[in-house]
Amino acid sequence: MKIIIIGIQGAGKSTQGNLLSKELGIPYLSTGHIFREIAKEHTALGRYIKETMNAGYLIPDDKTLEIVSEYLGRPEYQKGYILDGFPRTTAQAEAFKNGINKVIYLKVSDKEALWRLSYRDEQREDDTIAGIRKRIELFHKFTEPVIEYYRQKGLLVEVDGEKSIEEIQKSIHDSLQKSA
Ligand code: ADP
Repeated sequence: MKIIIIGIQGAGKSTQGNLLSKELGIPYLSTGHIFREIAKEHTALGRYIKETMNAGYLIPDDKTLEIVSEYLGRPEYQKGYILDGFPRTTAQAEAFKNGINKVIYLKVSDKEALWRLSYRDEQREDDTIAGIRKRIELFHKFTEPVIEYYRQKGLLVEVDGEKSIEEIQKSIHDSLQKSA
């Protein structure tokens, strides 16, 4: 089973991604996490990724595709995965031909997203007000078209991300049962 979780920053993708990973017994993978690990490296690539992320910008599509393909080629991802943070642009979605089964869209308003990110327990280096606003702006500009791309392909499941963690988990579970 190959699943994508998509939604605005602060929508709860990693919370639900990890819960779903336990339920289905397939690994959860987030491109944000991968990039944060690379950003720690004292290499030219590490420094470049760190600066790009801290400014709230996206890593270029070709670099992102290269890194994601390398990860997904690893043995632990051969039975499937839950992918968070990718594809984030239509170019990434079009280039990514991995036989995705479902795309779960966690729908949360900008207001709720901003509130959650400002009070996130674990503060990240890119969680400045300017950085968060930039990421939300880029979500509308680049990632909403990706949601429409998968809707047209009939793969999209829309879930209300403003409910409780348990209710959202159940909605995701039910939507996967229905389409199984
Ligand atoms: P958030 O969902 O809060 O924006 P993520 O952890 O998903 O945080 O991503 C953090 C940063 O990593 C992004 O702002 C961007 O710079 C980079 N990034 C993650 N995924 C992608 C992607 N698919 N394409 C380009 N850049 C990405």
